[in-house]
Amino acid sequence: MEETVWARDHTEGFVLGKITELLDDEAEVTPLESRYPKRILPFSDIFRAYVEKDKDYDDNCEMMFLNEASLLHNIRNRYYKNKIYSYVANILIAVNPYKEILSLYSPETIKSYRGKSLGEKPPHVFAIADKAHRDMRVLKQSQSIIVSGESGAGKTESTKHLLKFLCDSWGADSGPIEQKILDANPVLEAFGNAKTTRNNNSSRFGKFIEVHFDKNFKVAGGHISHYLLEKSRICSPQGDERSYHIFYMMMAGAPEGLRQQLGLTKPDDYNYLKSACTRYFTTSASEKKLSTVQKSADQSKQGQLRDILLDDIEDFLALDQALSRLGMSDGERLQIYVTVAAVLHLGNIEFEDNPEDTRGGCRVATSKERSLLMAAKLLEIDPSELRQALVARVMQSSRGGLKGTVIMVPLKIYEANNARDALAKAIYSNLFDYIVNRINQSIPFQTSSYYIGVLDIAGFEFFTVNSFEQFCINYCNEKLQQFFNERILKYEQELYKREGLNVPEITFVDNQDCIDVIETKNKGILTLLDEESKLPKPSYTHFTEEVHKTWSKEYRLGLPRSSKLKAHRSLRDDEGFLVRHFAGAVCYQTKHFIDKNNDALHASLEGIIQDSKNKLIQTLFSTSVAQKGKLTFISVGNKFKTQLAELMEKLRSNGTNFIRCVKPNNKMIDQQFDGSLSLMQLKCSGMTTVLELMEHGFPSRTPFADLHAMYKDYLPNELKVLSPKTFCEAMFHSLKLQDKDFKFGVTRVFFRPGKFAEFDKIMRSDP
Ligand code: ADP
Ligand code: MG
Repeated sequence: MEETVWARDHTEGFVLGKITELLDDEAEVTPLESRYPKRILPFSDIFRAYVEKDKDYDDNCEMMFLNEASLLHNIRNRYYKNKIYSYVANILIAVNPYKEILSLYSPETIKSYRGKSLGEKPPHVFAIADKAHRDMRVLKQSQSIIVSGESGAGKTESTKHLLKFLCDSWGADSGPIEQKILDANPVLEAFGNAKTTRNNNSSRFGKFIEVHFDKNFKVAGGHISHYLLEKSRICSPQGDERSYHIFYMMMAGAPEGLRQQLGLTKPDDYNYLKSACTRYFTTSASEKKLSTVQKSADQSKQGQLRDILLDDIEDFLALDQALSRLGMSDGERLQIYVTVAAVLHLGNIEFEDNPEDTRGGCRVATSKERSLLMAAKLLEIDPSELRQALVARVMQSSRGGLKGTVIMVPLKIYEANNARDALAKAIYSNLFDYIVNRINQSIPFQTSSYYIGVLDIAGFEFFTVNSFEQFCINYCNEKLQQFFNERILKYEQELYKREGLNVPEITFVDNQDCIDVIETKNKGILTLLDEESKLPKPSYTHFTEEVHKTWSKEYRLGLPRSSKLKAHRSLRDDEGFLVRHFAGAVCYQTKHFIDKNNDALHASLEGIIQDSKNKLIQTLFSTSVAQKGKLTFISVGNKFKTQLAELMEKLRSNGTNFIRCVKPNNKMIDQQFDGSLSLMQLKCSGMTTVLELMEHGFPSRTPFADLHAMYKDYLPNELKVLSPKTFCEAMFHSLKLQDKDFKFGVTRVFFRPGKFAEFDKIMRSDP
């Protein structure tokens, strides 16, 4: 009864306490600190605690008791000591410090991690990068580093540090290829990152960056694949959020002449930027420039809190230089800026009812003619054709005698708004694809033996309202979780078997059934959505009903909470379906699934944009599927499914390293660790399950040869000459270690939780 335990607490995660009364299947716990109330908890919320004052562990598996409470404690404890990294076996946990930690990423630090085994130095992203490179060399196998975590947890910063380490350590002796790989970052961030409420520099797309190596394991080139750029942001950033950085950067930092040429004034003058941060122009540009400390482009900003308002000016310059180093000529860069500006002018075109049209159509508002002319000029298309294509749609008649005839259907105001936004989104997202392509062209590799791929993609997410974007990202995380289970949990058990250890099997929840609900060929949600889109009159309520009809018997799919209360299952506007993901149940609102799943422009718009005289615009729209008068459909979900399948295939054939990023608080400040928030993330990323597995197994393991090398100096000379395995047996025998604390495998010694540290202590204190 006197034992100290961890008791679950809804704000701290866990607090220390004593069990003061045992009940049937619960216990009363009195926290040690009186500010926490006494509580009655089920045993599943109480964990054994072993807390040594001020002691923390590099590897969470070294702890005496492996459970979620001690994991959280160790991570919190270290965080306050500026030790943001720790391991769970080979997995790195990284807590976002929200401040610069002195020399954590300095060139000296990079050097000090080169060629060191995992565990020789304090945990670090560099240690993971070095391990990946070593594994690649030794195992002759490409490697992946999967960086995960929720928005703002530090994935992109970690990715940058990984790439920097790889390029610095194994850059080719000749050629600036690694500089180009690093230059890709500020470019991708300018076009694909935005300020959100969760992260001032939030990536709104996923990426897999491959660094390719030649036969001498030197950097030979690179390749970037990107996923799911968030398109809704282009036309309507929400609340305090902003659109993509590039818009503000150009307005703040482009030379005066260029701004005039592009008709750029200030963000508030553009509909697409209006709802965003209006504080922007409260100080003059020159004042801002003065207060900006000279920073060298992107480099110095790594790991620092960005001040978005100050950064835009100098960022434009840095971007322009990066684009230029990536091989884009003055003319090509200008075309890119022209295209970005065209999107803004397009967004300013507004519509009004057309009193001359008897069919209720609309026209471009007279006061907005200038925006139309400007957009048409920049896009190099005919203004009257643009006007026509925005307010009417060419359709093929399906009626009797007229069948097949092409007719003009006037659009209502909201339809014209949609058409305009669709065009803006298509231009911008095609531009993004183009830029990634151009980067890839500039980092080509003639021969590549192996590569290290870094995956930086959004983690599992759920908001008050979840739509198609969350659905896709959670689908992706479901696949990644399955892969994690395969690699970590299955692998662990196979290792025990291979090494001949008798450890009871541990079961984990297989999520294949959830993946099936989403992607099964004939009836998965993605297929049902595509089928709906191909109907003459797609309707989201019909789609939602089909989903429920098809999957009603499956546990993974449910009705959204609100409609459970209703006797009849007719669906309201705000309804959809619920998916029970590995990390929790999420309600998806299906209202915009159909339009968000369709990437096609209506044929009239596609037609005029393809007729543009502008070379870049022509390139952006060179592959087309639209046919005059036909409803076209390009499935976003299906494309993502294919991309994801390719990615998974790569991941499966590579060696794997995991980095789990944790966001310690939602305020984006340093020195604040929100226990329950962090615990939630550790659970979602599967870290608590891994620890549970380790608790029953042998989490620390060291090859005989390594132990031999580590300790031979502590032992008498006659022992040193033995083979590593015999050496270890002799050493363990002489130390009279308890049999249950370790096991000898075929190639290595396995230790029970906490026992390796104990062993190490004995060895070093008792030579
Ligand atoms: P994510 O990509 O997971 O959404 P980011 O990598 O963009 O998150 O990190 C968000 C912000 O947190 C960064 O802009 C930076 O200010 C801060 N940050 C992240 N990682 C670190 C780090 N290792 N050191 C210092 N600050 C960091
Ligand atoms: Mg990011």
